[in-house]
Amino acid sequence: MIHAPVNMPTANQALERLMAGNTRYASGLMSHPNQNAARRTALLKGQHPFAVILGCSDSRVVPEVLFDQGMGDLFVIRVAGNVLDYIVLGSIEYAALHLHTPLIMVLGHSKCGAVSATVAGVRLDGHLPNIGVAIQPAVETARKLPGNLVDNAIAENAKMVAKQLATSTPVLAPLVNAGKVKVVAAHYDLATGKVSMLSPAPAPAPTPAPAVTAAATAASPVIR
Ligand SMILES: [Zn+2]
Repeated sequence: MIHAPVNMPTANQALERLMAGNTRYASGLMSHPNQNAARRTALLKGQHPFAVILGCSDSRVVPEVLFDQGMGDLFVIRVAGNVLDYIVLGSIEYAALHLHTPLIMVLGHSKCGAVSATVAGVRLDGHLPNIGVAIQPAVETARKLPGNLVDNAIAENAKMVAKQLATSTPVLAPLVNAGKVKVVAAHYDLATGKVSMLSPAPAPAPTPAPAVTAAATAASPVIR
């Protein structure tokens, strides 16, 4: 059994660090940490990223920028629509198992083209339909909800992928169940620059957390 580095934060501490960075970014008070030669040199000994971000490839959704982090802080996987396939899953498993990263965040975002195209049923060429197939279950869930269909589908997609990760075997589900890894879904607003939590409920706060709406996304956890 490999033990986590002693300085690795807990999942909740990692989440607080991310959200504090986002607050700095959204308010225009970035500190641009860990982006110099000293950090580059320090990282030659190895990497200990405190959070995994599964985000969209959209050029406007840049994790290190919007969370005000630097080199060695985030283990980032970006694919259109922030969906899973086995290579994405394997990448995340590597971070959880071998780098002991305690937090995995699935980050959806407003105006996501991949989700919008899936909602619209746009006919796509090449390998693009694979992305739509992965997103479609979230769209079906969103159709049952009141409000804006695209916005709801974006949120449901992030929550669905988070659930797929948290329940995936053989690596992540046992780590999640043992309390060693936490998977959360979040949403980035292109207009405000702010990240908000979708699931589970926001991290520990002075007031009792509201009941989490257990995944409305019972839809196929199948990873394609
Ligand atoms: Zn997107």
